[in-house]
Amino acid sequence: MARCLLCDCVMDLTLINLLIQKQKLCSHCLNNFEIIKANIKVDDIQVHILYSYNDFFREILYQYKVNYDYALKDCFLNTHINELKRKYRGFVLIPAPSYYEADEKRGFNHVEEIFKNLNMRIIKCFKKTKDFKQTEQSYEGRKDIQKCIKIDKSMLKGANKLLLVDDVATSFSTIKSMIRLLPPDKQIKVLIIASNCLKRSNDLQ
Ligand SMILES: [Zn+2]
Repeated sequence: MARCLLCDCVMDLTLINLLIQKQKLCSHCLNNFEIIKANIKVDDIQVHILYSYNDFFREILYQYKVNYDYALKDCFLNTHINELKRKYRGFVLIPAPSYYEADEKRGFNHVEEIFKNLNMRIIKCFKKTKDFKQTEQSYEGRKDIQKCIKIDKSMLKGANKLLLVDDVATSFSTIKSMIRLLPPDKQIKVLIIASNCLKRSNDLQ
């Protein structure tokens, strides 16, 4: 009997959902994800955003990332896994870095564990050298993040199609810093699980 990873209800699933999509969430919980599938450009690079960063997303991400609820790693990409594998065939995954000690304390890198669900090669060529919490920073402060991210370019040998991945992006300062550090001859795309960037630009209009 399959139970929903979030609300623990017994799921009434079709065989296809269970076997092929490996569905982990009930339809009620799935409906709380606000799918936007937006394509935007950041520094001329194509960025794909799956969901809006709503209250529901904020809560489950907090439960996973801050309360160390490791099992929730499987609930973020859920029904999009096969589609994303097709869309980014031939790419290697480059996770946005977290501060080493934060990962050590948590026992896992939260971004990497989410994207392991895609069964694609992952290269961790970025390191964060300082515990830099973006939400606590001013706009000017966030720009300083560039100084805290380091790259090991030797790890990218033979990898030409790179998919940069992160859980949440608001100002895209981390992604921009990563893009600027990558060799210019690489094909780069970006996949963000959730962002409020569209809402913010609508608010401004
Ligand atoms: Zn549920």
